[in-house]
Amino acid sequence: MGQETFQQPNEHGYYGKFGGAFIPEMLHRNVEELRTKYLEIINEPSFKEEYAYLLKDYVGRPSPLYLAERLSEKLGTNIYLKREDLNHTGAHKINNAIGQVLLAQRLGKKRIIAETGAGQHGVATATVCALKGLECIVYMGEKDIERQAPNVARMKMLGATVVPATSGSKTLKDATNEAIRDWINNPVDTHYVIGSVVGPHPYPDMVARFQSIISEEIRKQLKEKTGSELPTHVVACVGGGSNAAGAFFHFLDELSVQLVAVEAAGHGIDSGMSAVATKLGTVGVLHGSKNLVMQTADGQVVEPHSISAGLDYPGIGPLHAHLYESGRGKFIYATDDEAVEAAFELTKLEGIIPALESSHALAGLKQLNLTKKDIVVVCLSGRGDKDMSTYMKYVK
Ligand SMILES: *Cc1c(COP(=O)(O)O)cnc(C)c1O
Repeated sequence: MGQETFQQPNEHGYYGKFGGAFIPEMLHRNVEELRTKYLEIINEPSFKEEYAYLLKDYVGRPSPLYLAERLSEKLGTNIYLKREDLNHTGAHKINNAIGQVLLAQRLGKKRIIAETGAGQHGVATATVCALKGLECIVYMGEKDIERQAPNVARMKMLGATVVPATSGSKTLKDATNEAIRDWINNPVDTHYVIGSVVGPHPYPDMVARFQSIISEEIRKQLKEKTGSELPTHVVACVGGGSNAAGAFFHFLDELSVQLVAVEAAGHGIDSGMSAVATKLGTVGVLHGSKNLVMQTADGQVVEPHSISAGLDYPGIGPLHAHLYESGRGKFIYATDDEAVEAAFELTKLEGIIPALESSHALAGLKQLNLTKKDIVVVCLSGRGDKDMSTYMKYVK
């Protein structure tokens, strides 16, 4: 009992030496309620049934596993794309938002809060709150509100209240502080939806479980297509790590499957403008868990950079920190330019415009020495519609 595996943290929420719950005393009650109830609730038959129903008829799952033939030929291997980009709202985040909102309802919560950087998690959360008729408040840095106007408009149209965080750098970190303050003040009726495998225990495990539908489907779909449930590689981009956690989950204990996480190297790993938390980070506490954090010697968090807002995060979830340290995961990185190049390549060869985040996973393929014998699954975490203004700068 209490023993962690790669799939599951120990009873204190640790994956190896990473994880745990480092929270202010005033949040203890909220987090403790979640910790003691989440497993029981998400394993209830009625919960599973409603979750499966919404994933199917609302999100459009199972998302296809698509053999990208022209890309495969160019790279001299076999590339299957797990099409999370085809989900309702355009990315994998909806899987988690639905799970957490259903959980919140069963905990009797009437009010949902979230924080968002680029707005993707805010949109997913606002979407599910509209579906369920729940009040939704999204905290967002004032600067991000200016930069991400289309997503702000979406959230408002969906009925959410978008509250600007006006302190500090007026970005994600400040929005997180505002959301935590709100939760402390509203412990009884409010659930805080975190959008990645980060935060205090039980969030990383809870979010990984909600995203694990991705690898559950991959196994079935691959079996149908190739006769085997196991690929040689699963490749995913990592910001906080939720799409990667979902794509890896049911392969974590299959040691023949190489798990490849691709981080964002921005202008280059030595440029001071990147987000490679494994190689540039040191052990520290960020957002309520012990993980690898990009920080100065005296513990100030270093501002990360990536062309993709979803990967622009100074830490990495505890599961991934453990996969990195234990060597179970292979961690590589791709720069802004490599990601954009990979996005154009996929678009030209397959007619699929990927999200900038997912393009990092595609860029990572070139570093893997793949052969015709390999079966490679890439998690295409989202679609590129939201990134068109960035891509347009590169259109010649
Ligand atoms: C948010 C986002 C990511 C990064 O988040 P993870 O938790 O690391 O998955 C990746 N891809 C897309 C499309 C996103 O919206």
